[in-house]
Amino acid sequence: MGDPLAAARRLAPRFAGRAAGYDRDGAFPVDDFADLRAEGLFGLMVPAHLGGFGAGFTDYASVAFELARGNGATALVFNMHASVTGALAGIPEEMARSLGVPDEFFAARDEILKAAARGAFYAVAMSERGAGSRLSKLSTEYVRDGDDYLIKGTKSFVSGSGQADAYLVAARSSDDPQTVSQFLVPATSPGIRIEETWDSLGMRATCSHDLHLDVRIPRTSLLGGVEGLALWFAQLMPHWLVASYAAVYVGVAQSAIEACVAHVSGRGVAELPWVRSRLGRADAAVAAARLAVEQAARMVDSDPGGQDTNRWVWRAKLLAGTTAAEVAASMLEAAGTSATRRGNPLERLYRDARCGSLQPATSDVCADWLGIAALGGDPDSDGSAPRW
Ligand SMILES: Cc1cc2nc3c(=O)[nH]c(=O)nc-3n(C[C@H](O)[C@H](O)[C@H](O)COP(=O)(O)OP(=O)(O)OC[C@H]3O[C@@H](n4cnc5c(N)ncnc54)[C@H](O)[C@@H]3O)c2cc1C
Repeated sequence: MGDPLAAARRLAPRFAGRAAGYDRDGAFPVDDFADLRAEGLFGLMVPAHLGGFGAGFTDYASVAFELARGNGATALVFNMHASVTGALAGIPEEMARSLGVPDEFFAARDEILKAAARGAFYAVAMSERGAGSRLSKLSTEYVRDGDDYLIKGTKSFVSGSGQADAYLVAARSSDDPQTVSQFLVPATSPGIRIEETWDSLGMRATCSHDLHLDVRIPRTSLLGGVEGLALWFAQLMPHWLVASYAAVYVGVAQSAIEACVAHVSGRGVAELPWVRSRLGRADAAVAAARLAVEQAARMVDSDPGGQDTNRWVWRAKLLAGTTAAEVAASMLEAAGTSATRRGNPLERLYRDARCGSLQPATSDVCADWLGIAALGGDPDSDGSAPRW
């Protein structure tokens, strides 16, 4: 197999060349996704014996950073796919079996991963209007009906909707509302409808539309094979719900620096001391955020879900989100009004970068958890709102 990082570096300039058009039209980056598929990158997190690259979280973070330097929206949708495949590949088998996860789940999981290595692409349909991504507040419901499950509800902000081969759907049991489960719902299931609602400030090409579900799916679509494992997944692998975005937004911030350098160099204002100073501060801030993402990623690989790991995960997410927004704003100010025209890379990057702090866990939520930990409390139970 090839080198996924080299492939990402090769693809990024192509993505950058197409980014303005997709952003302008709010259109899904179909050509970028064709490139990702052709390079086999949908198999990035798939173990080698199932046909993938067998990447770890550190490898993922490096690839995501490079892809985001090309187009943040493409990298963000890719992140959703990597989260599904990475989380499935990372399930500790012994622990899962002790929870009663049946053998048939492992066989079904391997089929999902093999399909990804062959080019299937998965999206995440967790969030809902009013509930955000808080699993404990979801209104989408499921009920068991013989050998099938019936799922009914509406999801919002589903990146890659209308393009994915299947959706990871989180829903609560209508028999027992405390039980939250996840299903992989094939996009071809009768009863799926996409409502094109995504006309947002930034990350416009993610096509994060609403997804209406009124579907019947086979029992084997239940992830984990046992109901009620959604919170277990979230607690075991918070990095796929929190830190995986971080690498994307650091890549967006790096791209803002590069766009600013190109802009000011072409206009003869690069020698102005305040322009240089803004570039210097941005360089230091992005390098620091990148180091935090790398440190978090290494800890995820060595001790996933550990207390110290999670603190690094929250630090990385917080630093990436705030750094991206601050750096992009500063680079736009250094470049001047001409860079605010539609179609200028900095104008798009400024809007895309604004989304980093808003994605869960938001910067405020990460700061809250870190603050509780700094005060000696337990972020799992002492937070101002339920973690999930
Ligand atoms: C570009 C983009 C792409 C996305 N793609 C997807 C996707 O593919 N799939 C998907 O499922 N979702 C996706 N989302 C949605 C995202 O995961 C969140 O669910 C969504 O942004 C939350 O919506 P909200 O901010 O409107 O609501 P809320 O989560 O309700 O947040 C509102 C405010 O409340 C605060 N808040 C929220 N939770 C807590 C808490 N526990 N403690 C304290 N304060 C809290 C927040 O900081 C925020 O200021 C995407 C979002 C963006 C911006």
